[in-house]
Amino acid sequence: MLEAAYPPARAESWDAVGLVSGDPGQGVRRVLFAVDPVAAVAAEALEWEADLIVTHHPLYLRGTTSVAATTPKGRLIRTLIKNDIALYTAHTNADVANPGVSDALARAVGLVGDLVPLQSFPDDPWRGLGRIGELPGEVTLGEFAAQAAEGLPRTSAGVRVAGDLSRPVRRVAVSGGAGDSLLETAKAAGVDVFLTADLRHHPASEFVESGGPALVDAAHWATEWPWLDSAASILRASGVNVETRVSATVTDAWTRGY
Ligand SMILES: [Zn+2]
Repeated sequence: MLEAAYPPARAESWDAVGLVSGDPGQGVRRVLFAVDPVAAVAAEALEWEADLIVTHHPLYLRGTTSVAATTPKGRLIRTLIKNDIALYTAHTNADVANPGVSDALARAVGLVGDLVPLQSFPDDPWRGLGRIGELPGEVTLGEFAAQAAEGLPRTSAGVRVAGDLSRPVRRVAVSGGAGDSLLETAKAAGVDVFLTADLRHHPASEFVESGGPALVDAAHWATEWPWLDSAASILRASGVNVETRVSATVTDAWTRGY
């Protein structure tokens, strides 16, 4: 069911998606959805007695020669295998799916109506990276940023805005996760504001200086978290007899702002 919604063939060539550990024949009763395969999520899975963890980010992207418990990843995989907890990843294949990561993000920050990819596949106009949509009415950039912060799970950094706070915005592009590769695409699309994560000083500064859309930069984890319930709902809607849970553990890298 997950592979029907998020076909692995649509993942980027550098990505590592699909079943990371576990036996395809094992029974699954409880499925935990989380952004990151990290120790806190494994602990939550253990405590809830999950049989499967579905994460957005891969545990091993570049391969490894050891799963010994001498590294954080080795410890994690050992914990999962010892406790019969499978791990499955849907990463860039979930980004480009319809609905995918950025659809859930778009809804979380208040976009309504039809959403179209910011950068669609040449062979499929309804799938691709990012989404463009509209707010129900025109608001100021400051109001939109406050609404986006309200709609996303809380993190230490909150959201940051680049641009004139009184600027009117209605047409919005969003991209879950690190979206700076889509800056020029967002500018070409003529949106009023682009919301993504992990923007750096120089690209952001130059983008705003050049008269591009305003920017809203949210925590990486927070921009992808809304997708978890969307993925879980696929299993729930199928009528299959599994319990789903979306991890509320904040696994963003930044744990405190001062
Ligand atoms: Zn990500």
